[in-house]
Amino acid sequence: MRLVLLGGPGSGKGTQADVLKEKYKVIKLSTGDLLRQAISDGSDLGKQAKSYMDKGELVPDSVMIGILDKKTAEFEAKKQGYILDGFPRTLPQADALMDMLKQQKVELTMALLIDVPEAELVRRLSSRWTCKNCSATTFKDPDGNPVVCPQCGGELYQRDDDKKETIINRIEVYNKNTRPLITFFKDKGLLEEVNGYGTFEEISGRIIELFVMKGIK
Ligand SMILES: [Zn+2]
Repeated sequence: MRLVLLGGPGSGKGTQADVLKEKYKVIKLSTGDLLRQAISDGSDLGKQAKSYMDKGELVPDSVMIGILDKKTAEFEAKKQGYILDGFPRTLPQADALMDMLKQQKVELTMALLIDVPEAELVRRLSSRWTCKNCSATTFKDPDGNPVVCPQCGGELYQRDDDKKETIINRIEVYNKNTRPLITFFKDKGLLEEVNGYGTFEEISGRIIELFVMKGIK
């Protein structure tokens, strides 16, 4: 299985990737993990990546795809499936990924979109509160419950990252840079969608159902 997961911030794709990882014995690859690993390996690409990160700059796509290429080639050699979570994020990255797979003479199994309406993303993301005392995160329902930290009874506050303005901004970035990937993969006949409304288990259930339908094991 070679899977790309798509979905806006708050779509829960990272958590769904964890479920798929267990169930299908595949590796979840996030950009952060890939970079950390390349840097600790001390490879040339890792060193290049580190030089950008040390300057507080974004790692260029060419370096990122180089790291991904090396890692996935190792997986291909041992027939190990993988899920990409958080990559590609832009059209140039998606193009580079497709080129990479072509070079490796393999095909993407699918790009799976966890489709959650924008208003629901905002609602989910802006309901997250953090404990001042123990830093646990918790979700407030529309009635504003819980009022205190369920772990320790501490006072709850909202981190800047979880405030509505920040969230709307994140969603705008997603809409501008990442949403075009939906059409990109659809045009290639690689897009599948699941309804991302509902509980975490309901969404997992839909994904697994889709995999059964597609004969993915
Ligand atoms: Zn607490």
